Amino acid sequence: MKKIIILLTLSMFFSCNSSAQKKEAKVKATFPVSKTDDEWKKELTAEQYYVLREAGTERAFTSPLNKEYRKGTFHCAACNTALFKSKHKFDSGTGWPSFDREIKGNVAYSTDNHLGYTRVEEHCATCGGHLGHVFDDGPRQTTGKRHCINGVALIFVPEK
Ligand SMILES: [Zn+2]
Repeated sequence: MKKIIILLTLSMFFSCNSSAQKKEAKVKATFPVSKTDDEWKKELTAEQYYVLREAGTERAFTSPLNKEYRKGTFHCAACNTALFKSKHKFDSGTGWPSFDREIKGNVAYSTDNHLGYTRVEEHCATCGGHLGHVFDDGPRQTTGKRHCINGVALIFVPEK
């Protein structure tokens, strides 16, 4: 299992506009797909930008993907990397699309302390986009993990 640990400095850059330009080069080196804030703003909707690039959280029960149970794959809305499979999705009752595991290697992890305690944050390993967090209260019969993901950060690709 290959986990890429991203330094938390990333989120500081995004919240600090004046210095973001100078430090962008550092962030760029971290992910295979890297774009400037302006480029991302053009490509993403306002809601996608808020979640993926500013580590925001969508309101619970607002994503249509919350109730998406067809067979298929959930891709990164920013760079189209396949991140989660429908067979690993479950209804956590939280109002956010939830999975008991990721597609190995395509999701990167870091930690954040935004709420005063440490959470494991999930990013797209290709573009660094913020996806959500992983918690230890998932289904016990499988992995025990709950990947709590913002639906707006995902695109569902149905199986043909
Ligand atoms: Zn991505």
